[in-house]
Amino acid sequence: MPDCIFCGIAAGELPAAIVSDKPRTLAFRDINPQAPVHVLIIPREHHPHLAALSAAEDDLLGDLVEHAREVAETEGISEEGYRVVFNTGRNGGQTVDHVHAHLLGGRAMSWPPG
Ligand code: AMP
Repeated sequence: MPDCIFCGIAAGELPAAIVSDKPRTLAFRDINPQAPVHVLIIPREHHPHLAALSAAEDDLLGDLVEHAREVAETEGISEEGYRVVFNTGRNGGQTVDHVHAHLLGGRAMSWPPG
């Protein structure tokens, strides 16, 4: 998708701190971390938001969530726990229109979110 930052990262055309790289998904560090561990997991294929990803074929959403689980293991936050967030749409706080899971950990998270 032209002008999509995360498509550019997935294509290797824009820089990112890559955490792990899989055939259909990619994990990289958030440029403005909100927790000691803050990794974004994206599908390589462009889908604008969670609803579109959920409708994608071959359980791409499942692959993305599995990738988040693997990164939680390798980042050492599985035992203490972590949060996976899909901000969706304007009221959900989504600012980049290429669906992404935020994997947050390394500190206790408050609930409800602000
Ligand atoms: P959201 O507000 O849920 O759409 O989240 C977008 C996230 O992308 C924010 O947490 C940003 O800090 C992050 N972000 C934006 N541009 C980049 C980039 N070039 N590399 C890494 N993270 C980015």
